[in-house]
Amino acid sequence: MRLRIFTFAVFAVVVASAVAAEEAKKCTVPARECEQQIRQMLSGRRYLGAQLEEVNPGLTVKSVVEDGPAEHADLRPGDRLMAVNGRSTMQATIRDFKQILSDAKQTGRLTIIVQRNGLLRRIDVRLEPYSKAQIDKIVAQHLAQSHSMTATGPQQ
Ligand SMILES: [Zn+2]
Repeated sequence: MRLRIFTFAVFAVVVASAVAAEEAKKCTVPARECEQQIRQMLSGRRYLGAQLEEVNPGLTVKSVVEDGPAEHADLRPGDRLMAVNGRSTMQATIRDFKQILSDAKQTGRLTIIVQRNGLLRRIDVRLEPYSKAQIDKIVAQHLAQSHSMTATGPQQ
């Protein structure tokens, strides 16, 4: 009896989170068209591969993409961004950071000063284009989340 209740509870939680994810990210474009758009948008585009978080004030690294440019440069989750390309980011927002990133598009290079465990470190990142495997993964993830289907499924 105890086991049965436990199983049901786990099931309910899984269903609830699946529904929440679906409601949060709906996509109205037909899946095939949407896939083409994503591929077009990402192909050849250079990226950093790090998710940042506003900590008020400032920014920390929330996560890094596996095998992405940030990970290659040894940027790590928890790193606090102190400066990027000579500009202080101690009070910066995600929006400020996006601006710095866009200013660096020409060279594709970021020199980031981070604070990690109380010490300052210099991290040199070279932005890289998305690999085909990464684009495939992003497409598959989007289709599964927002279209409830796979890339080879029937047209919606
Ligand atoms: Zn879509």
